[in-house]
Amino acid sequence: MKDFELKFSGLTVGKHQFNYEVTKTFFETFQDRGIEGELIHNGKVAFDVELDKKENLLVFDIFYNGSVNVDCDICLDILDIEISGDSRIIGKFSDEDVWGEEDVIYIPPRDHKVDLSELFYQLIHLALPSKAVHEEGKCDPIMIEKLKEYNGGEDSSNEASDPRWNTLKDLFKDKN
Ligand SMILES: [Zn+2]
Repeated sequence: MKDFELKFSGLTVGKHQFNYEVTKTFFETFQDRGIEGELIHNGKVAFDVELDKKENLLVFDIFYNGSVNVDCDICLDILDIEISGDSRIIGKFSDEDVWGEEDVIYIPPRDHKVDLSELFYQLIHLALPSKAVHEEGKCDPIMIEKLKEYNGGEDSSNEASDPRWNTLKDLFKDKN
């Protein structure tokens, strides 16, 4: 993605600062490409990148901070998750696979810039908790009621007294 390119050619050896921000369109673009990962509806995450340019190597110190919207694992309502962290990524010049090694990105030797969008996307996913749930008592109460109903649905007398079931039964009766 053009907004997340870092042009390193022409920079002097030493440290350089870059600032990026991912917003809703960032997540939509990844979704459209069908890239796997937790479905993120929206978000705003600032990425501050400190590039230490060496003779034959690029060292990226990446600091990120923001929030993203995902579905709550319990009630499926939107959940706002604060994320922050930092990561050091080494950029090596090589024609090898781009995502072969952990914390290393391979940059084709003739390239002048590197697209950091996939890296940012990965970092955001790594920062997400394995279980995304609202704080206790903050789940959507209507959904919680429905889930309770569903889980208690083994009792057939409950089903029979549900007017929706009766309507369905009537429909089947009409067909016979
Ligand atoms: Zn919830």
